[in-house]
Amino acid sequence: MNLDVTYPRRNTTPCKVGPITMGGGHPVVVQSMITEETRNIDACVEQIIGLHEAGCEIVRVTTPTLGEAECLEAIRAKVTEKHGYVPLTADVHHQGSAIAVEAAKHVDEVRVNPGLFVFKRHGTRANDVGSQNAENAATPQRPNADSGLKAQGSRLNADSDDLKAQGSGLNADSDDLKAQGSGLNAPPPTDLRGESGEEIDRLRAELAYGQTEWAEEMAAIEDSFVPVIEACKKHGRALRVGVNHGSLSERMLVTYGDTPEGMVQSALEYLRLCEKHGYTNLNISAKASRVPIMLAANRLLVKRMDEIGMAYPLHLGVTEAGDGEYARIKSTAGIATLLSEGIGDTIRVSLAEDPINEIPVCYDILQALGLRKTKVEYIACPSCGRTKFHLPRVLNEVRDATKHLVGLDIAVMGCIVNGPGEMADADYGYVGAAGGKITLYRGKEPVKHGIPQENGVTELISLLKADKVWTDPPEGAAPRRELTALKTV
Ligand code: SF4
Repeated sequence: MNLDVTYPRRNTTPCKVGPITMGGGHPVVVQSMITEETRNIDACVEQIIGLHEAGCEIVRVTTPTLGEAECLEAIRAKVTEKHGYVPLTADVHHQGSAIAVEAAKHVDEVRVNPGLFVFKRHGTRANDVGSQNAENAATPQRPNADSGLKAQGSRLNADSDDLKAQGSGLNADSDDLKAQGSGLNAPPPTDLRGESGEEIDRLRAELAYGQTEWAEEMAAIEDSFVPVIEACKKHGRALRVGVNHGSLSERMLVTYGDTPEGMVQSALEYLRLCEKHGYTNLNISAKASRVPIMLAANRLLVKRMDEIGMAYPLHLGVTEAGDGEYARIKSTAGIATLLSEGIGDTIRVSLAEDPINEIPVCYDILQALGLRKTKVEYIACPSCGRTKFHLPRVLNEVRDATKHLVGLDIAVMGCIVNGPGEMADADYGYVGAAGGKITLYRGKEPVKHGIPQENGVTELISLLKADKVWTDPPEGAAPRRELTALKTV
């Protein structure tokens, strides 16, 4: 079955993460993140190897301080020695310049969060803006925050419980701030959230960045970011500009609100800096814990990039999705929706579970969309009053016998009335017939009639052997994965 053209892909510039290439028509890459503390090197090594064996193609490791970044050297060496090469990403957040420079020596990709990379405590400008107001009155403001906020449905007036659930940096805990050494002598923060309507507009106008202050902050970002760009260039690393809805900078919040536009502009600033300094081995993420915001941010990111001639690959994910069935559905709603629009080059399903559980979900999303094929595709009717056998049991029997034949599509249908027409172009069909018998199909053609139900699976295997598509199941080994090259638009 030809899966190549199911979903035309957005044409993106390839981004090389060690031996893996994302974008540019390559298969959608599956990635995850370990949960062990980075200083616990042996535990990290075991978890990285476990994830890679499960099919995770890029493994992310957190590096909150320089100490963790320095641990990456030993982690890289031990993983390679015990298992082989695994592409690694270092996750960098607060005040990340020196951390990212160190990480770039050891891993294939560095992820920076623009909202935290040059971290200023939210609201610390509140008592300083009086001196800014004269300047603001004399100079034009940055892009029209007010209209953007209304258009984007800002969450600045969201209820406080919601905001806590988003994990916003606005109420970052004081220990965290002390650890970062920022804002310790700052006046009490003015938190825009919790306010509404005209009060937001008033605070927004009061806190608006003047051109000088904006330029100063951009210069500070560039000063911190250029060493990271140069380190990535020097070591041949990739860089992910990873924006999170819950951790936008104060400047973005004040200017664009807590909106998809703010997320997009936050990413674009860093992308422009990379291009200014001659570095383009990039990918981007715009994640949110709410699916509609994640969708809006990624669609807007693509639109804005198209407008300015950028085509960097996108990393898709729904943050803080939780656990269990709903987390999987929520992640799928966000990731699959964008993939079905041709958007997305690498994915991570974030579960509040062992990260190894994330990998099958990623592969199932990709298989269901026809973007990668990692297992047999089974098509089975839901059964009804016409069903000629116990369909769930027979489906399990067929699956047990054939699940190692990656690449095949096999249908199990309850009746010969509707089954053959609804087998969705399966390669083979196992269909209930009158009198407790089974009919086997090769494509749309019935090739074996009147098979007693108890012999159905055996006869199916015989047919597969006769067609030379059968192989004996490997002892205890995971099914072979096949990659499907993707067509782009
Ligand atoms: S294929 Fe036949 S048995 Fe299965 S749901 Fe449709 S009508 Fe019912």
